[in-house]
Formats: sequence, structure tokens, C-alpha cells
Amino acid sequence: MPKIKIKTKGHYDFIDITDEVAGIVKKSVVKDGVVVVFVAGSTAAITTMEYESGFINDIKETLEKLAPENADYKHHQRWDDRNGAAHIKSALIGADVAVPIEKGELSLGTWQKIVLIDFDEKPREREILISLLKG
Ligand code: ZN
Repeated sequence: MPKIKIKTKGHYDFIDITDEVAGIVKKSVVKDGVVVVFVAGSTAAITTMEYESGFINDIKETLEKLAPENADYKHHQRWDDRNGAAHIKSALIGADVAVPIEKGELSLGTWQKIVLIDFDEKPREREILISLLKG
């Protein structure tokens, strides 16, 4: 299974991985089907979005209202760590996206990008698993 490894900084690190995914799709034998992009880990997320600084700020502010990084969470007592907010954001956004493939290309909107977001409170090395399905 193709994988992408990425070093992240945490604390809302937004990384556009569209080109890496498109490259894997191009090299594969699947010309029509779907690609599933999944991040292994419960403090990061994969989504699609417009990748521009204004929107990145907007989504960051929205998520920070929902689950502030500095708030206290029951998870902290359970494991004695400090990334409860990161777990909430990861669970809300989700760990994967599925994108249709047509004629060997990703069927994304004009400004739609596949983006890894790392919410953890420290730098990490993330493994992204790419599943290609014919259909
Ligand atoms: Zn944790």
C-alpha cells in the first residue's frame, strides 16, 4: 500500500498533500475508481478545503472556539498528557477522505485541496495510507 510520510509541527499545522496523492494515483493502474487517504493517528485529520491563509485562519478560529488548546480535558487526567483538544478536532473532522478518480486524475473542485491537519501539541511524523480501489 502506498504511504506518504510527513513531518509536522503540531498546533494546527495545515499541509497540502494533493500533489503527493495525485502522483500516486497517476502511477497506479486505477484509471477510474476512488482513492482513500487516511492518516494513522487520533490527533490529526484529513479533509478537503480551499488552501489559502484566510480560510486556514477562519477554520482555526472556529475550531479553537469549539475546543480551545489551553482548556482542561478529562483525557489529560486519564493519560497525563495535554492533547485533549487535538483529539476532539481529529474526531470531528475525521481521519480520511475518499476522492473519485476519473481517467487517472483526482476529481477535485478547482480550488479544492486534500489537506492534512496536525492538531497535536508537539511535532510528529505522520504516516498517510493511500488505498486505491477500482470501480
Ligand atoms: Zn492524548
